[in-house]
Amino acid sequence: RLPVTAAAGPGYLPGSEFYKVEAIIRPWRVPHVSSGLLEMGIRGVTVSDVRGVGAQGGSTERHGGSEFSEDKFIAKVKMEIVVCKEQVEAVIDKIIEKARTGEIGDGKIFLIPVSDVVRIRTGERGKEAERMTGGMSDRLSSVVSIS
Ligand code: ATP
Ligand code: GLN
Repeated sequence: RLPVTAAAGPGYLPGSEFYKVEAIIRPWRVPHVSSGLLEMGIRGVTVSDVRGVGAQGGSTERHGGSEFSEDKFIAKVKMEIVVCKEQVEAVIDKIIEKARTGEIGDGKIFLIPVSDVVRIRTGERGKEAERMTGGMSDRLSSVVSIS
């Protein structure tokens, strides 16, 4: 695992100010993960119902005796979370903590550089667009200013 290096920023390649953390997880774990993320101030999350196949293989359920009855794909949820680079490790750690059962099929996380963020309502770009009021950065800066 990469260490959390909030001050310097992690050395992911290709380097970017923002990253998309894309996690493919078990559908029934989504509430645990999303509440865990919200508790740490991650307010912007997109989820999609997807189907996939990995080491877990396909579903063994059979339907109606059809020749093609075995479904190769299992229902999963894709979570996409765009964050600034300093927040990537904390988000990955939280997803692992909340999504992991230890059994085959827990899922995978992909890290994708994001070149820009645009807030449609205001036309803001970059850091202004990525930051959310009451988000993780706001919380951390208020902790720092108290101490
Ligand atoms: P506004 O202040 O204009 O409401 P916002 O930053 O709060 O802007 P929304 O318009 O609420 O953003 O976001 C619309 C949708 O975009 C959300 O429902 C979510 O699916 C997605 N989204 C927003 N921010 C992120 C993010 N950082 N990562 C992933 N998805 C996001
Ligand atoms: N980085 C944003 C902030 O701290 C939060 C991003 C997100 O919620 N996905 O405001």
